[in-house]
Amino acid sequence: MKNKELFEAAKKVMPGGVNSPVRSFGSVDTPPIFAKKAIGAQVWDVEDKAYIDFIGGFGPHILGHANPVVLEGVAGVLSEGISFGLSTAIEVEMAQTINRLMPSMEMVRMVNSGTEATMSAIRLARGYTKRDKILKFEGCYHGHSDGLLIKSGSGGLSFNVPTSAGVLDALVEHTLVGQINDIEGLEALWARHGHELAGVIVEPVAANMGIVPLDQAFLKRLRDLTMSTKTVLIFDEVITGFRLGLGGAQGYYNIQPDLTCLGKIIGGGMPVGAYGGRADIMAHISPLGDVYQAGTLSGNRVAMAMGLNTINYLEKHPEIYRQLEEKAVFLETAMIDNLKAAGIQGQVNRVGSLLSLFFTKEPVTDYHSVMKSDTEVFGRYFASMLEAGILLAPSTFEAMFLSMAHDDEVLKTFIDIQKEVLKSL
Ligand code: PMP
Repeated sequence: MKNKELFEAAKKVMPGGVNSPVRSFGSVDTPPIFAKKAIGAQVWDVEDKAYIDFIGGFGPHILGHANPVVLEGVAGVLSEGISFGLSTAIEVEMAQTINRLMPSMEMVRMVNSGTEATMSAIRLARGYTKRDKILKFEGCYHGHSDGLLIKSGSGGLSFNVPTSAGVLDALVEHTLVGQINDIEGLEALWARHGHELAGVIVEPVAANMGIVPLDQAFLKRLRDLTMSTKTVLIFDEVITGFRLGLGGAQGYYNIQPDLTCLGKIIGGGMPVGAYGGRADIMAHISPLGDVYQAGTLSGNRVAMAMGLNTINYLEKHPEIYRQLEEKAVFLETAMIDNLKAAGIQGQVNRVGSLLSLFFTKEPVTDYHSVMKSDTEVFGRYFASMLEAGILLAPSTFEAMFLSMAHDDEVLKTFIDIQKEVLKSL
């Protein structure tokens, strides 16, 4: 079947024709493609058209699609049965590995998605502190649990529903919303509400409103303020974990949170999430404590195997992070040159191997400057790039993910195509 026919058929039986909104390409007003396979840095659609891929499955595939390193031993795992309702050795190995590389995660609980990880971390923060309020930041996305779909990023922003219908007003009332990189605002908020706050959740690199780095000074102030009121500081490292380095964003910025949420890379592309942190806080999770959280499929053996294959390879080859950084800098520089050559005012933001392009004159440093970027121009850019065989995330608010499979040739092809596309806008 062709992309168009599949989409028509899908729309009859799936809301918007998709299982996750961004896949509809609705925010860039372009008919979506349906993927058939992906290897390395390439994706093929059902019409066998090949694309150079910068979605990267939205994060897990740091070693490239279908990398044999990641798949090793999976067939053996499958043949032994995958789900027992009992603990398995590989879950212990996963927790030990995470703890070794991210020492702030003294204890770890595996779940099945980033959404579950953040939702559970928030519940734990409330159960531990016996307080109700939480703080999040506008434009940050932490999955789709009720309490966190408030002024959120990602698809919520792309489809103009940052605060979802169906979320109880009571939850909205207990969710304070701050602005990233606004230290004064943070201090003012703390003066009024600090002692009421159970937890603060933040993406240490905002990656769901495009890429917006957080200032180290801002994160440091957040750490100090949370300590002063015994508020649980939660880093949502679902994207940054094992992407910015083996120690995640907390290693990159050298700031330790109380709890951390992980996902994506730690499952090698399988459904996965994890939360963990200070042992005294994690001791409140059932069966040790009175905060309940469970999962039939949590710690799934295939997810553990593929995640561990990825993490173990990264640990054995830490030079990968320097190589990814070099690739990303090369791309960043070329993108800035391409914008200049086309006479377009745009901004390229980059942290490690995460990049994004905003069509706006001003530097993009916070939610308000993100919102000044021209989404209509981005839509035309996206459509022309797709036509030319480059698959970008279908929203200005989603990142470009680089992998080890993006070699020089792939990057040069991207740069040449982008140069022409930008000139044609
Ligand atoms: N947190 C962050 C920072 C994310 O980027 C995402 C998803 N992109 C989530 C949480 C939710 O993860 P999932 O889609 O696996 O539920």
